[in-house]
Amino acid sequence: MMPGEIQSSGMAEGLSAVARDGDQLVVPRGTDLSSDCFFCGKPASAKVKCRLRQKNGLDMMQGGETSGDMITAIIMLLGLLVYVFVFVFDWSAARQRTLTYGLCTRHQKKRTWMLTSAPICLLAGIGALVFLLVHSNESFSVALTVGIVGAILAIVSASLYLAAPAPQLSGFNEQFLWVKGADETILARYPQMPKAPAAEPKKKKK
Ligand SMILES: [Zn+2]
Repeated sequence: MMPGEIQSSGMAEGLSAVARDGDQLVVPRGTDLSSDCFFCGKPASAKVKCRLRQKNGLDMMQGGETSGDMITAIIMLLGLLVYVFVFVFDWSAARQRTLTYGLCTRHQKKRTWMLTSAPICLLAGIGALVFLLVHSNESFSVALTVGIVGAILAIVSASLYLAAPAPQLSGFNEQFLWVKGADETILARYPQMPKAPAAEPKKKKK
């Protein structure tokens, strides 16, 4: 079987092969890779079926974390808005982009820990901001401190959520998903895909 022979239609049965494209894995939609941990290649003890979502706006949010002035805060906020917008409008399309991947005990713990802490931080941050709104006219310094703590908690929450181990969608077409985040040992199991543009797969005639 030739992994490079990608056509846009008419050979769905032959398209079960997984390939690599540089540091990305190219998988048919709905692939199950759960026998080994996606992040280290060790035998998996758990599996997760996920919908791969488009994550526009993330670069803006992550770029802002290193510095802390007002402009980067605004850029991060804009990134968050783009992210939420795409998240909502991509919802039904994402249902068709599923991947089942495996997690070893260590990565499962890490993922659970991070995904549990994120909403707790967010709630604490919102709580702090509500406190700030209620008490803003009593003591400026207290309000300021609470506001800063709230904002930091919100950023920590977003960072935890984004940094939790998860395959990242980097491209897709009608049949395939381009996925980032796989461990090198996982990538090494699959043949390198010669040339297959994500946006429009070539129609080859013989
Ligand atoms: Zn692992």
